[in-house]
Amino acid sequence: MINEQFYTDLIQELNEQQVTLVAVSKTHSAEAIQSLYKMGQRAFGENRVQELLEKHPMLPGDIQWHLIGHLQRNKVRQCMGTVSMIESVDSVKLLKEIDKEARKAGVTMDVLLQIRIAEEETKFGFDPETIAGELRTLNLDKMQHVSFRGVMGMASFVDDPDQIREEFRSLKKSFEMLRDTCFQNNPDFNQLSMGMSGDYQIAIEEGSTMVRIGSLIFGERI
Ligand SMILES: *Cc1c(COP(=O)(O)O)cnc(C)c1O
Repeated sequence: MINEQFYTDLIQELNEQQVTLVAVSKTHSAEAIQSLYKMGQRAFGENRVQELLEKHPMLPGDIQWHLIGHLQRNKVRQCMGTVSMIESVDSVKLLKEIDKEARKAGVTMDVLLQIRIAEEETKFGFDPETIAGELRTLNLDKMQHVSFRGVMGMASFVDDPDQIREEFRSLKKSFEMLRDTCFQNNPDFNQLSMGMSGDYQIAIEEGSTMVRIGSLIFGERI
């Protein structure tokens, strides 16, 4: 089931580049996740809260669960205490809800700001042109239960590597712009989550610090 040889080689390459792997386990079984856990993997990514919450109790408690799919505000509360990072924060309203629920739960939630870099209109994310202005409407220092860790983005599903590279470059520019403005006093704002099975090599060349890889490890999704 799991492509062990690929995983072993991938981890070695990522360690050399100091890139973190989030193993994207959506649609795959708890058994498959357990097998990868036994090989040392700790960070797993799911795109639906419900699926994450179903798998969580069946698996070791030291797994770091990353939520990577679009999150509705009415599901934020359920994430507290289980999800260790929400990578798909795509609006100011969602940020406020996360801060509120994390405060109630007495935790601090790590978040990445998802930025829309792909040409597809269907993709979620902040508009790179307006995100800084939108964040300025918030009093970031008062959001004490959100830890801003960086940005996440997805390139277009196209075959053209030059287009993918350009989109990753634009994401890195947005990351650096935010790091040097809104988050200049926050050394934890240091994660650039980009790269999936089809494009992770380009993403690493363009400065990714975190890749989210599913199908190359677990096989095609059913
Ligand atoms: C599914 C998914 C991935 C992983 O996709 P693969 O092509 O299987 O590696 C990465 N990021 C997000 C946001 C996803 O939804």
